[in-house]
Amino acid sequence: LTQPTIKLNDGRAIPQLGFGVWQVPKDGAAAAVGSAIAAGYRSIDTAAIYGNEVGVGEAIKASSVPRDQLFVTTKLWNDRHDHDVALKAFDSSLGRLGLGYVDLYLIHWPVPSVGAYVQAWKALIKLRQDGRAKSIGVSNFNPDHLQRIIDETGVVPAVNQVELHPRFQQRGLRQFHAEKGIATESWSPLGQGQFLEDAAIGAIARKYGKTPAQVIIRWHLDNGLIAIPKSVTPSRIAENLAVFDFHLDADDLAKIATLDDAKGRIGPKPEAF
Ligand code: NAD
Repeated sequence: LTQPTIKLNDGRAIPQLGFGVWQVPKDGAAAAVGSAIAAGYRSIDTAAIYGNEVGVGEAIKASSVPRDQLFVTTKLWNDRHDHDVALKAFDSSLGRLGLGYVDLYLIHWPVPSVGAYVQAWKALIKLRQDGRAKSIGVSNFNPDHLQRIIDETGVVPAVNQVELHPRFQQRGLRQFHAEKGIATESWSPLGQGQFLEDAAIGAIARKYGKTPAQVIIRWHLDNGLIAIPKSVTPSRIAENLAVFDFHLDADDLAKIATLDDAKGRIGPKPEAF
């Protein structure tokens, strides 16, 4: 199974499709991640705040896939932006995962009301220098937050993981990322399942003999995005990975482009969270 990857600005590569585990309960995480790895996923997206790093680590340990063929992401929570506190939070995540390094460490939200994300970013730079986080990036950063960490440290994040799906396509932010060399990673890539019944998506799915979820995941891949859909249902976990045997044509991409909606955001606004 050869899966597409995206080249990061630090020379490393991330699988374009990964497995997200937000809201996967701590007791179910090992089973869900185990079935994802068995199905063929090689990238797992967790976070300290998800409370399931232990289960993610158990599944990684139990799998026969070598560590260097897996791409593990976790995230620094919002109350840990102080530089030294961030370093300790990273140690705790690594301990819960039972790993010697993570592939990608992200600042989960910028929390501009606290205004310490530059301190947090400096801690992540140190972790990358020490080789304990192979790549570093951010999540939910707006252009002004990105510009500030770049100006103050000279280090451009490898990734910005943001809410992105056909109802909220983030075109302006993606353009900014392209100018800076930042890879865009889509969270809630399926819009949390809220528009899988959309008529236009359904028509496209019938045309390719695919499911609506597969069409939406393919839309992310065909747009050069990294996507991390979540499911705890083994059949859906496998379904969401069965997207490497087709492409959407220009007409279908144009149809999905029209689904973008300024009011389509599901999660919080980064500037206010
Ligand atoms: P998602 O868009 O991946 O949707 C998941 C939901 O869609 C499932 O719970 C299920 O109800 C449904 N679903 C999944 N596959 C399906 C299928 N094949 N057929 C029918 N229904 C299906 O939503 P998400 O979990 O919010 O986002 C994915 C991942 O993104 C998370 O698990 C997490 O890793 C990450 N995330 C990050 C942030 C952040 O702030 N950085 C925020 C939210 C999510």
